[in-house]
Amino acid sequence: MARFTLPRDIYYGQGSLETLKTIKGKKAIIVVGGGSMKKFGFLDQAVDYLKEAGFEVELFENVEPDPSVETVMKGAAAMQKFQPDWIISMGGGSPIDAAKAMWAFYEYPETTFEDLIIPFNFPELRQKAKFLAIPSTSGTATEVTAFSVITDYAKGIKYPLADFNITPDIAIVDPALAETMPATLTAHTGMDALTHAIEAYVSTLNSPFTDPLALKAIHMVFDYLPDSYNGDKKAREQMHYGQCLAGMAFSNALLGIVHSMAHKTGAAFSTGHIPHGCANAIYLPYVIKFNASAAEARYADIARSVGLEGKTDAELTEKLCEKIDAYNVKLNIPKTLKEFGIVEDEFKQKVAHIAELAVGDACTGSNPRPITPAEMEKLLTCTYYGTDVNF
Ligand code: FE
Repeated sequence: MARFTLPRDIYYGQGSLETLKTIKGKKAIIVVGGGSMKKFGFLDQAVDYLKEAGFEVELFENVEPDPSVETVMKGAAAMQKFQPDWIISMGGGSPIDAAKAMWAFYEYPETTFEDLIIPFNFPELRQKAKFLAIPSTSGTATEVTAFSVITDYAKGIKYPLADFNITPDIAIVDPALAETMPATLTAHTGMDALTHAIEAYVSTLNSPFTDPLALKAIHMVFDYLPDSYNGDKKAREQMHYGQCLAGMAFSNALLGIVHSMAHKTGAAFSTGHIPHGCANAIYLPYVIKFNASAAEARYADIARSVGLEGKTDAELTEKLCEKIDAYNVKLNIPKTLKEFGIVEDEFKQKVAHIAELAVGDACTGSNPRPITPAEMEKLLTCTYYGTDVNF
C-alpha cells in the first residue's frame, strides 16, 4: 500500500495572502525569518488579516537560515507559553521548516530530536494546533511537503525530518511574496525545485500520482527559471507554482542522492555553507550519470518530454545533463565544488566521512541505483574536480 498526502487546501494567486481572514481559531503564532517579510510589509499584513479574523497573534521572529536545533527548542518553548491553535509560518524554507519541528516539540515536549530524525516516526500531531505555511521563496516547497531540514551545528550535520504529520494543513502560495527574492536566491531555489522534480520522477517510489506533477514542474522550471532569475514577474509567478508542484511530487515519491549529498556537504566545510539549491544544482548532472544504468529510461522520458531529441535513451540522458549544465551556466552556478571555493586539502580530508554520512541520509533509500560509501566517495570526488562519472 502506498500513501499520497497533500495539504487539505492550497490557496494561490496574487493577493491570496488575504485568505488568512477566513481562518477559524483563537490564537495564532507567526514564525518568520530575519526581516524581509517585515521589511516588505507582508508580516504586518498577515497580522492584520488574522486580527480581522478574531485572532490573538504572537510573533516568533529571526529564525536563522538553516535553522538550528536550539532555535527549534526556543520556538517550541514560546508556543508552550502562548498555547496557539494555529501555527502560521511565513518566509523561506528555513522559518517554515523550523516551525514544523517546533510544532512537534510544542505538542510533545517530552519527545527528543533523536526520536524525530527516524523517518516517519512522528507522534500524532494536531492535538493542539494546525499548521499553515506561506512561502516567500520558490524552491523548497516546504509549504506542501512532509519534510523539514534542521541543522545540528555542534555535529555539522543537516537532518532531514520526514513524516506526513508535518505536511501543512493549508498552504498559501501568493506570488507577491516571491517577487522580493534576490537573483541568486531565485537561481538556487529554482534549481532546488528542478532537482526535486527530477529526483521524484526517477525515485524508486515514483507513481502515477507523482509523475504528472514532477513532469509539469520540470517543464515549468525549464520554461520560466531564466526569466524569473532576470526579474520577470510573470515568470516568477509561474516558478512559484512550479516549485509547489515539484513539492507535491517529491513529498510523496521522496528524493535521491543529490539531496543526500547536499544535506551532508551543506554545513561540512570551514569555508562556509553551500546553499542547498546551489549544492543540488552542482551535483545533479553527476548523479544523473551515476544513476543512468538504473534509470536511463526515466531520464530519457524527461528529456523527450521537454523536447530534446536523441536516438537512444543514453543519448537523451546525455542531452538532459547538457541542458542542466547550460542552465547552471546561465544562472551563474559553478560546475564543481572546487570552483565553488571548497579548499582541496579540507575536501580530501573530509570526503570519506561525508560519503559515509551521505549514504546514510534518509534520501538515499529511494535513489534508483544503490550506492556504497566507496562509490559515494568517488562520486563526490568527481563533483570536486569535474571529472567524468564512469563507474
Ligand atoms: Fe531540496
